[in-house]
Amino acid sequence: MSETTSVLHIFNSLSGKKESFVPIEDKHVGMYVCGPTVYSNVHLGNCRTFISFDLVFRYLKYLGYSVRYVRNITDAGHLEHDADEGEDRISKKARLEQIEPMEVVQRYTVDFHKTLAAFNTLAPNIEPTATGHIIEQIEIVKEIIASGFAYEVNGSVYFDVEKFNTSNTYGALSGRKLEDMIHNTRALSGQSEKKAPQDFALWKKAEPQHIMRWPSPWGDGFPGWHLECTAMSTKYLGDQFDIHGGGMDLKFPHHECEIAQAKATNKKNPVNTWMHANMLTLNGKKMAKSTGNNILPNELFEGSNPLLSKPFSPDVTKFFMLQAHYRSVLDLSSDALEAAEKGYNRLSTGIKMLSQLPKSSKSSLDVSEVIQAYHTAMNDDFNSPVLIAELFETVKLIYRVNDGEETLTASDIEQLRKSINAFVYEVLGLTLEVAKKEDNTFLDKALEVLIEMRDQARASKDFVTSDRIRDALLAKGIQLKDGKDGTSYTLKS
Ligand code: AMP
Ligand code: ZN
Repeated sequence: MSETTSVLHIFNSLSGKKESFVPIEDKHVGMYVCGPTVYSNVHLGNCRTFISFDLVFRYLKYLGYSVRYVRNITDAGHLEHDADEGEDRISKKARLEQIEPMEVVQRYTVDFHKTLAAFNTLAPNIEPTATGHIIEQIEIVKEIIASGFAYEVNGSVYFDVEKFNTSNTYGALSGRKLEDMIHNTRALSGQSEKKAPQDFALWKKAEPQHIMRWPSPWGDGFPGWHLECTAMSTKYLGDQFDIHGGGMDLKFPHHECEIAQAKATNKKNPVNTWMHANMLTLNGKKMAKSTGNNILPNELFEGSNPLLSKPFSPDVTKFFMLQAHYRSVLDLSSDALEAAEKGYNRLSTGIKMLSQLPKSSKSSLDVSEVIQAYHTAMNDDFNSPVLIAELFETVKLIYRVNDGEETLTASDIEQLRKSINAFVYEVLGLTLEVAKKEDNTFLDKALEVLIEMRDQARASKDFVTSDRIRDALLAKGIQLKDGKDGTSYTLKS
């Protein structure tokens, strides 16, 4: 086995390369993922990113690491236009609905948890909130001011990007150059109090109408959006930790600013491996809350969105997402979901068949090679589409064994069953079995009726009808088998 297949490799956005993964502390992994801003229901695009990192979390655990997974809840400081302008998203919703900001936060945090539970994702180990870490954020602002990389103006504090860039590099993660940024941003109109357009807020003064406000050494205000992630990641994972993730759209400015903030306080690069999940699109455009170009999970589960031909279960939707690599763009459509559903059912049926396979005294193939292929796929930057393709190959193999074209011993079947279960249920986090149980109940009932009709036809020597039932079912991939205990059926590929 080559090194690239036996060791986990992760694409690091900072180096632009796949690197073999070595945690800072043996057997332990610290992972931080930017969580949702809880001012509206999560859409499927958000879900894709969290499902991608659930896969990472699950595989790291499968490999035996003890993982501390921290995923925050942004409940303050994220302004409408992402930059330093506009109203706080949560305050705005609270104002429009005439409720408390914390009612907004509670409502959408509950929705977020419910949705992610429907997708069978694992809860993080710590889920800290921005409002629960105001003191920590104020402390970091003080440290950055003390290090000379931030300045106060009129009750707000800004990060001085140009000054930071003289002794550090700003833009290494996103590949942007400060000169270009300066050149491309319009000159300040004079209304802004920032020294330069690229500077970003660490602390903003709260105007009298701003509801979410906290006292600070600079007066009443609220933290800048980028600061919360620096405060919460370093508090729970240390000054340097293994993995930081988020959607691709957070690379700049959010993550770039996180790096600058951390380096301005402790001079260290805070994160070894930066991971960015790619976007879910709809009609070729990024799904987003702000543009309305999105589908909500419930609309998909109920089939209530006009773009969908029918409802799709959370498990099928998740399977659809996992059939694309997390770094590829994925476009959601009814056709693509229907295709995924077919594959999902094929996988389900194949796995079910595994427990009923004939057992032989000798195996005609090497099961360990089949299983190794699963590891190789996941070790290659969590390549779930390749893993699923390998699982489909295994399903073909299961059919061949069922048809007597290949043979497996009882212990090989057991080994295969264990590995498939581990990769399908533990690593991919699918719940195939539950879904399939319901499916087969109906199939079993329908076939019971047909088998009974065929038995009646045979009893009255109407072989035309009995053969017709048998052949028509076979044409649809359902093979009837007559045995001494009556007739049973198997599914053919
Ligand atoms: P937000 O609540 O907007 O801060 O987003 C929460 C997470 O969802 C972030 O990691 C975003 O990068 C991610 N995200 C937002 N839109 C999409 C999308 N269309 N596809 C995938 N991830 C997304
Ligand atoms: Zn963040």
